[in-house]
Amino acid sequence: MTLEHDLRAAFGSAVEEGVPAHYLSDISRLPGRAEAVVLPESAEQVAEVLAWCYERDVSIVPRGGGTGLAGGAVPAGGIVLAMDRLTRIRSFEPELWRIQVEAGVTTWTLQRVARESGLMFAPDPGALEQSQIGGNIATNAGGPHAFKYGVVGDWVTGLEAALPPGELVSVGGPIRKDVAGYDLKRLLVGSEGTLGIVTAAWLKLLPAPESVLPVAVFHRGTAEGCAALLRVVGSGVVAAALDVLDAETLACGAASFPGGVPDGAGFVLLAEADGSRPEAERIRAELVEAAGEGAVGIHAPDDREGVDAFWRWRSGLAFAVLARRGGVVAEDIVVPLDRVEEAMDETLAIGRRHDLVGLSFGHAGDGNLHSAFLVTPGDADEIGRAALAVEDLFDVAVRLGGSVSGEHGLGLLKRGQLARQWSPRALDLHAEIKRLFDPKNLLNPGKKLARPLPGESHALVATRS
Ligand SMILES: Cc1cc2nc3c(=O)[nH]c(=O)nc-3n(C[C@H](O)[C@H](O)[C@H](O)COP(=O)(O)OP(=O)(O)OC[C@H]3O[C@@H](n4cnc5c(N)ncnc54)[C@H](O)[C@@H]3O)c2cc1C
Repeated sequence: MTLEHDLRAAFGSAVEEGVPAHYLSDISRLPGRAEAVVLPESAEQVAEVLAWCYERDVSIVPRGGGTGLAGGAVPAGGIVLAMDRLTRIRSFEPELWRIQVEAGVTTWTLQRVARESGLMFAPDPGALEQSQIGGNIATNAGGPHAFKYGVVGDWVTGLEAALPPGELVSVGGPIRKDVAGYDLKRLLVGSEGTLGIVTAAWLKLLPAPESVLPVAVFHRGTAEGCAALLRVVGSGVVAAALDVLDAETLACGAASFPGGVPDGAGFVLLAEADGSRPEAERIRAELVEAAGEGAVGIHAPDDREGVDAFWRWRSGLAFAVLARRGGVVAEDIVVPLDRVEEAMDETLAIGRRHDLVGLSFGHAGDGNLHSAFLVTPGDADEIGRAALAVEDLFDVAVRLGGSVSGEHGLGLLKRGQLARQWSPRALDLHAEIKRLFDPKNLLNPGKKLARPLPGESHALVATRS
C-alpha cells in the first residue's frame, strides 16, 4: 500500500491523484520529490493531516503559491500540504480596518478586497497574483512599499496555525497591541513552514492613499545615485518606496521603460510619493529636489495609466534581467543603508573576479539588494563560478553589517548560512526553537537550518532560466 492510498482512506478527495509536477518545485526550479499531495478543505483538516503524518513519521512540506525563490516549498519526500483550498475571507470589517483571511487567499485577492473598500494591504511582493498570504507570512515577504509601510509581519495582528503534533493554535487576534506573552506570532512569521502551518491570519489594513505619484530620477552612475538616495533619506521626506537599479540592470530593462531612458544614465532611483493629491505632489516635488541634483533625467508620470505603466515595468524587471542571458543566479542580501553603494560596487567586483556579469537592483531604501550574476543556462563552468561568486557576496553582506537574506528566506538554498552572521549561542537557540516546536523534525525538514549540514559547506545556488 502506498502513502497516497493510506492518506486517501483517511482524507478522501483532499488527496490528489498522483503527484502533479507543479507541486514539486518553486521558482528556484530545484528538483523535489513527494509521495503524495494533500489539499485540505479546512483549517481543522490541516491539523488532522498534520496529526496523521506526525503519528506515522511522515514529513510535511507546507506550500502556498510556490513563488518562493529559496526552494522553501521544494519537498524531499513525504507529503506536500498545499493550502490552495483555504481561500475563505472569514471576516472583513472595513470600518475597523481589519480582516481575517485563510492562508490560501492570494496576495492579489487580499489587496483587491481591501482596495474595494478604500483600504490597503500595503505589502507588495512581486508575484502577488500567485503568492498566498500564508506563504507571505511564512517568508515575511517585503516589496517596494516595505520602505514606508513595513513587511508582511508588521500587518499581522493574529495567527492561527496547525502546530505539531497536530493541534490548531491561535495567537493574537483582531487586536492591535499585545504584549502578554512571548511573541509566538512573530516567531511563526518568517519561519518558512518549519515551525507550524499557518491556516489563517488577522491582518490590519490602512486607508488607501488618494494618490500615488512615482518618480524615476536617473543619474550617471552608482556613486551619484547612492548619494541621491542618502540625500532623500537625510532630507526627512518620507517616500512610500525607494528602489534602485544599477547600470547593468537598467540596460536589461531600458527598452521597455515608459518614457525612455535618458542618454548618459547609469543608475536610476525609483521613488513614490503618496497621500492626498496635493500632499503627494508636494512630497514628489521634495523627492525630486533631494534626489535631482546632478540628475541626467527625470520621469514623473501624473495620470493613472502612466503610474500603472511605471509599476508594471518595475514588476517585470526580474524577467528582463533573466532575458538578458537566459539565466541568472540572484540573491537578496541586505546591508545598512549607508553601505548600499559599497555592496553594489562589490557585486560588480565579485563578478569581474569570477569572469561574470554582476548587477544589483532592489529595495535600496531598506538596504535590500537583488544582487545577481548572469549565466548561460547549461553552462556548468559559468554556473560553478556563479556559486563561488555567491559565497563572496554573502561574505560582503556580513562584512558590511548586513544579512544573507533580506526577503526570500533561507529555505533550501541558503540553509546553514546563518552560521556566517550569528554567534554560536544564537545558532543554538535557533536550532532549539525548531526542536521545541517540531521535536520529530517532520515540518519542512532540511530548510532554514541555522548551521550547515555535515559536508555541506557552501550555499546551494539555483539558476533561474
Ligand atoms: C517575480 C517574483 C517577484 C518576487 N518579489 C518579491 C518581493 O518583492 N519581495 C519578497 O519578499 N518576495 C518576492 N518574491 C518571492 C515570493 O513571491 C515570496 O517569498 C512569497 O511570499 C512566497 O509566497 P508563496 O505563497 O508563493 O509561498 P511558497 O513559495 O509556496 O512557500 C514559501 C515558503 O513558505 C512556506 N509556506 C507557504 N505557505 C505556508 C503556510 N500556509 N504555512 C506555513 N508555511 C508556509 C513554504 O513551506 C516555503 O518554505 C518574488 C517572487 C517572484 C517569482
